[in-house]
Amino acid sequence: MVIRPTIEVGENKCSRAASNSRERGQTWLGGLTMASVPSCPYSVITDRIIELLERGVVPWRRPWAGGEPPRNLASGRHYRGINTFMLAVSGYASPWWVTFNQAKQRGGHVRKGEQSTPVVFWKWLEVEDRDTPGKLKRVPFLRYFRVFNVEQCENVAAPAVGSATGHSGFSAIEAAENVVQTMPKPPRIVTGEPRAWYQPRTDTVNMPARELFADGEGYYVTLFHELAHSTGHESRLNRPGIADLAAFGSQTYSREELIAEMGAAYLAGACGIVQQTIENAASYIAGWLKRLKDDRKLIVIAAAQAQKAADFVLGKHGADTDESAEPGE
Ligand SMILES: [Zn+2]
Repeated sequence: MVIRPTIEVGENKCSRAASNSRERGQTWLGGLTMASVPSCPYSVITDRIIELLERGVVPWRRPWAGGEPPRNLASGRHYRGINTFMLAVSGYASPWWVTFNQAKQRGGHVRKGEQSTPVVFWKWLEVEDRDTPGKLKRVPFLRYFRVFNVEQCENVAAPAVGSATGHSGFSAIEAAENVVQTMPKPPRIVTGEPRAWYQPRTDTVNMPARELFADGEGYYVTLFHELAHSTGHESRLNRPGIADLAAFGSQTYSREELIAEMGAAYLAGACGIVQQTIENAASYIAGWLKRLKDDRKLIVIAAAQAQKAADFVLGKHGADTDESAEPGE
């Protein structure tokens, strides 16, 4: 059967689908009900991120609860892409999440009245090729489903918080230095000018001297930002914005900057670095708010690319990705 979905990747048909919950008097941060959800997954996510930014919360600059990235309790897999930030910012101490049915399958249940958090995943569908009638092509579609933290459930057993960090014996700083030392096909890293940058033309990262940073964590988060940029080099992930030297201020440049910000957050989290609460300048937040409102797909797509960038730095390039994974119910 040929499925003809209404939302297609690459087209911005859902730009106005944010028709929006607040106008209907529903609360986003509290969660979603089936009836209140707009049809476009990009808007489901973007609306929520916008609401966080408007409250002064930058989801990619928040430490993960308990130092652990969010995971699905049934599969044990880490959530990826934008889901990591959506779940981590929710304020629960436990990193473990389940769907409604997964809670039931484990002999427990979601407490009455608890609000879900949306997570997105990619699903490949066969659709008719518009250019060649009668021919099918595979197209990725963004879908979402809803999950609950185990703290919102009763009788759902989960590992204790802090039991799965995997950093025992290593300090976060040692782990971070190890990531830098073992990055595959690394760029040249030099210390010279007192500011951090990545230059695609020479494939060089410049870092200020370590003494100029208040702490080791700050040094590595900055270095991770530049290393995330470097993954865009044509010899690595060949990402528009780095490979084609996008002009400062362009849309591609904005996306690349967000990729580096979120890529650094994934890497810091993977090392167990708990970022100090960074003072988020109002202008920083205002800048991202405008860009997210102008481009409803920016956050989801940049987060997916940031995940790939972090995977590359960690030597997981080409590893199985579960962003296409279905809820598993
Ligand atoms: Zn940057």
